[in-house]
Amino acid sequence: MKSTENLLATVRQVPADVEIVSHRLMLRAGMIRQLASGIYSWLPTGLRVLRKVENIVREEMNRAGAQEVLMPSVQPAEIWRESGRWDFFGPELLRFQDRHKRDFCLGPTHEEVITTLINNEVRSYRQLPANFYQIQWKFRDEVRPRFGVMRCREFLMKDAYSFDVNRAGMEQAYQVMYDAYCKVFERLGLDFVAVAADSGAIGGSVSTEFHVLADSGEDGIGINTDANFASNVEMIDLPPSGPPKPAEESLALVETPTVRTIEDLCKFLSVPSSQTLKTLLVQGENGPVALLLRGDHELNTLKAVKVSGIESPLQMAGADEVEKATGAQSGSVGPIGLEIPMYADYATREMSDFVCGANQREHHYTGVNWGRDLPEPPFVDLRKAVNGDPCPNDPTKSITVKRGIEVGHVFQLGTKYSESFDATCLDANGENAVMWMGCYGIGVSRIVAAAIEQNNDDSGIIWPEPIAPFLVCIVPINFQQSADVARISVDVHDALTQAGVEVMLDDRDDRPGVKFADMDLLGIPHRLVVSDRGIANGQIEYKRRGKEAVEHLSLDGLTEELLQRINH
Ligand code: ATP
Ligand code: MG
Repeated sequence: MKSTENLLATVRQVPADVEIVSHRLMLRAGMIRQLASGIYSWLPTGLRVLRKVENIVREEMNRAGAQEVLMPSVQPAEIWRESGRWDFFGPELLRFQDRHKRDFCLGPTHEEVITTLINNEVRSYRQLPANFYQIQWKFRDEVRPRFGVMRCREFLMKDAYSFDVNRAGMEQAYQVMYDAYCKVFERLGLDFVAVAADSGAIGGSVSTEFHVLADSGEDGIGINTDANFASNVEMIDLPPSGPPKPAEESLALVETPTVRTIEDLCKFLSVPSSQTLKTLLVQGENGPVALLLRGDHELNTLKAVKVSGIESPLQMAGADEVEKATGAQSGSVGPIGLEIPMYADYATREMSDFVCGANQREHHYTGVNWGRDLPEPPFVDLRKAVNGDPCPNDPTKSITVKRGIEVGHVFQLGTKYSESFDATCLDANGENAVMWMGCYGIGVSRIVAAAIEQNNDDSGIIWPEPIAPFLVCIVPINFQQSADVARISVDVHDALTQAGVEVMLDDRDDRPGVKFADMDLLGIPHRLVVSDRGIANGQIEYKRRGKEAVEHLSLDGLTEELLQRINH
């Protein structure tokens, strides 16, 4: 492939709102372009990488015995009403009507379609176990599309669905997929962890997420390798805390002008955020409910909706409701004298002499103590786990929280969808049995961005070989001026192509510096430089992307030498 025949589309500048490195590099390297918020076109270089990821996923699915299918992306509302998700999925489901005013949606996932499909095709346990997968574009109208193809609205997913006659079969299918996922992420050259997870809108009981560890990750993963523990922080149960230390301060009402946030408050009073108590108002069945947390802790919405009387999905109370219930604005709300149902996080129990809002505009209380200044509310587990929290597998050890990007998710669905659709088959006794299902997703397009988050430097991307758009690039010096350079460059290009290696020959009439910068940006693993001086010595210059050393390889036997180096 010659660069003059391939739309390279590299650029220097990216829009100012680009926040993370993979988004910036995918734009700069000419891999993607945005058409609308969260909707992207893939340019030739980007598509090459996407297809490589897709093929590795496909190979491992086939190897694991799954069969490829392709289902429609436009889905009728009826099947979503049948599963009860037409309402439950909420605004992430993009809905529209056809010319006959019938409701449709763009598929965000395919449990409804596959269950309807397989129910009609599978009649007997003899046709099971079976697992069907597709690699297809999904649409989710995300609240806040961001980070390029990492969290977008239209994205490529591999989704697989297993069908079995009983629970044991489903568990076995789940294990096979779990192992196939590990194989996929190993082959992609990614540093990943498998973590216990919540099942979210998909449903079911047991589920595992696969995360690529990177600082830009949106999920917190609690890890203790010694205790063989890894879990999404959302899923980590925390123990009750002990009683507080005796009160030392007396209760005082202090003026806190212009204080709006916990950060402002800590600065103004010179106290650490762990000494403050924040009060969040959420929607309950009979009006707002107050949730109390230590200022430095974050509310775990999965835990909050388990508290009786709190509505699911969790919704924060609006500014008007806050004012009506407390008489104050959100920055000054506190539990003293508040007459609505209240729950406090376990970790707040051991707090003494703390600071909280006073339900008066720009006022807070200091020296607050449970019992003396306000009755103890019920203490429950409400927060997200943080660094240093006890490890559930071994409470003598603690967890470290790392950031992760979710690239895959496997679920045991049980009979949730097969019951909704009455998807049964005849079992060995000739009786009708509801099928047991599993579902398994991989974010194919998100993986491209995740791989870049893990593999880059100041000059650009450093592709793992299995997903590099090209394995070798050839940078000729004076391609247009030197017949020798042109001839050798083309010869090397042709020989490598013959040997099955994907090569990019940068034949543009540009300065070498420009070409080096572009090839580094593109992240091509092996770089060859062809020059008159090298040719005179029978040599070619070689450099591995990401390494400093420049070597000189003999032109004789060059193809064999490179084949040796590829995959090493
Ligand atoms: P998230 O918590 O990131 O929203 P999810 O739990 O909604 O993910 P699943 O329904 O399990 O995701 O989808 C399977 C995979 O599809 C995810 O593991 C992820 O890699 C990918 N994915 C989900 N939403 C998006 C998105 N908006 N943009 C790109 N990839 C996505
Ligand atoms: Mg989601």
